[in-house]
Amino acid sequence: MTFRETLHQRLARRRELGLYREVKTLAAAPGPRAQVDGGELVAFSSNDYLGLATHPQVIAAQQRGAGLGAGATASHLVNGHLQIHEQLQDKIAELTGREAALVFSSGYMANIGAVCALVGRGDTVIQDKLNHASLIDGAQLSGARSLRFAHSDMESLERQLSRADGNILVAVDGVYSMDGDCAPLADIARLCGAHGAWLMVDEAHGFGVMGSEGFPCAGSAAAAGLAPEQVPILMGTLGKAAGNAGAFVAGSRELIDYLTQFARPYIYTTGMPPAVAAGCLAALEIMQREPQRREHLAHLVGYFRDRAGALDLPLTDSRSAIQPLIIGGEKAVMALAAGLQQRGFLVGAIRPPTVPAGTARLRITLSAAHSEAEIDALLQALVESLADSVVVAE
Ligand code: PMP
Repeated sequence: MTFRETLHQRLARRRELGLYREVKTLAAAPGPRAQVDGGELVAFSSNDYLGLATHPQVIAAQQRGAGLGAGATASHLVNGHLQIHEQLQDKIAELTGREAALVFSSGYMANIGAVCALVGRGDTVIQDKLNHASLIDGAQLSGARSLRFAHSDMESLERQLSRADGNILVAVDGVYSMDGDCAPLADIARLCGAHGAWLMVDEAHGFGVMGSEGFPCAGSAAAAGLAPEQVPILMGTLGKAAGNAGAFVAGSRELIDYLTQFARPYIYTTGMPPAVAAGCLAALEIMQREPQRREHLAHLVGYFRDRAGALDLPLTDSRSAIQPLIIGGEKAVMALAAGLQQRGFLVGAIRPPTVPAGTARLRITLSAAHSEAEIDALLQALVESLADSVVVAE
């Protein structure tokens, strides 16, 4: 078969399976409202949990940051590291209660960079079956032995810990991106302590929205009461609650020195654009001084769950801003998402291979920028779209 024929056949197969991914082009920044095909939709699909992506002060700071140069013009270790990057790293360290932090250009790169720098041949990476793709890819790329445990199952984790050799890295998502549930971090940290394993927590969906009394933005590990020594490697992204782009690893000064020396996706790539660093810093300052954003989001999570539960919608046990409704079939979930779009709502339809076969879902994400009235309207649209799809099925 020729190159063209091979690609054509693989794409046709993906379409047949109902798994073909369409790229949705929006006319304006996806915040709580998105402009699609000339109309405005209320978006319950972005990870802009605190509504900071469209905050005027963030945008103004980012515009001022562009005055430092459109790009960093080199990697961080050559001449692409500016004072604004240092300020951002210091602010991340302060918010997470860590000694230091290192910024990466994306969460995908931060996970690959940290895992590959920390373990290699002769070592073992153990991770939850539902971990984000970037952790799974990082483990494969590292050359370490890669073991998985059943989702949040501590017996399964313990079995894998007892089979591991070399340095052992246990990596988990703090909040699972497609399910919204939190990892049982206190139990995981205890098992890591007993087996001398290093714990890495991906706080992509916890940073900025949950934490402890002292560190309310630090993420799910802080919310679970874990001390920094129990989670020596804390990763977070700046593309979700911070509403921007980029990511970080936070930890001891020595960890950050080490990653600066050995994390290849940090070393061999152009530095984060200064404007992005400036926008992120402004967003983190707002995150820190406006707890009401987190409080409103927590209120909306409870509000959504009460109302959706009363309608018998298939909720999961998530307490986070990610509130998926598990639908099952790929075509059914696409029909529902289309029904919602017709009624003015943008909701992500998530299908395999992102989630296991038979668990296609609507991934509803809530934001501090939403109102109760918008949730009521979304639920009404959901009930109508579900009724339509039953009629189609008959
Ligand atoms: N980890 C998790 C749990 C995520 O959900 C994501 C984003 N989908 C990432 C890492 C990657 O982050 P980024 O989008 O910054 O590359």
